[in-house]
Amino acid sequence: MNRVLVVEDEERIASFIEKGLRANGFAPTVVGDGAGGLQHALSGEFDLLLLDIGLPDIDGFTVLRRLREARGSIPVIILTARDSVTDTVAGLEGGADDYIAKPFRFEELLARIRLRLRTERGPEVTVLRHGSLSLDLRTRRASVEGRTVELSAREFVLAEMFLRNPDRVLSREQLLSHVWGYDFDPSSNVVDVYVRYLRKKLGSGRIQTVRGMGYRLTSEA
Ligand code: CA
Repeated sequence: MNRVLVVEDEERIASFIEKGLRANGFAPTVVGDGAGGLQHALSGEFDLLLLDIGLPDIDGFTVLRRLREARGSIPVIILTARDSVTDTVAGLEGGADDYIAKPFRFEELLARIRLRLRTERGPEVTVLRHGSLSLDLRTRRASVEGRTVELSAREFVLAEMFLRNPDRVLSREQLLSHVWGYDFDPSSNVVDVYVRYLRKKLGSGRIQTVRGMGYRLTSEA
C-alpha cells in the first residue's frame, strides 16, 4: 500500500484528500504544519509527499528546499492556489516533481499521484541519453557520438545531473548542493570550472549558460 504524506493546514482540504486517498487504497497521513511535515518527509516512511505552499509556520517552498538539502528524495507534488501558479512553477526548480492548482477534482489529483508513483517505480534506467550524448550509469562512462569519453567522478555526477534534467535550467546552487553537498561554500566557482571541463569533453555547445540563472543541457554539440 502506498503511503502518502499530506502536508496541508486547511482542515477541509486535508480531510477531502485523506478520505479520497483512503477510498482509493492509499494510506494517508496528514500533518498541518511545515516543520512537522518536513520531519515526516525525512523519515523515509512515505512514498509521496503532497505539499501545500501556505502553511502556518514555514511555507511549502522552504519545506521543499530543506528536504532536498537534506537529500530527501521522496517525490513531491505541490498543492497551490490557482492564482499563484507562476510562483509554483518557479518552485519546481527547487525540486518538486509536479504541482496541482486548487481547487482540483480528486481524480485529477489521483491521476498525478498514480503517474508519479509509476514513474518512480519504472524499470531502472541504466543509460541516460540526450541527443548524441549518453551516460552509462553502470560502467560510469560517457559516450559522445559513439565515442567513449573518460570522466572524473565529479564530472560524472555533474553530467548525470544534467542528463536527468535535460533542457532544464539548473542553478549554480542546485548543481553545487547536488554534486558537492549543501554545506559547500556558495561563493565557490567550482561549478563553472567543472562545466568548462565538461564542455571540453562533451562538446562546447552542449551546456548552455543561461545568464543570471545557471546552466542548461541542450542536444547540440
Ligand atoms: Ca494552506
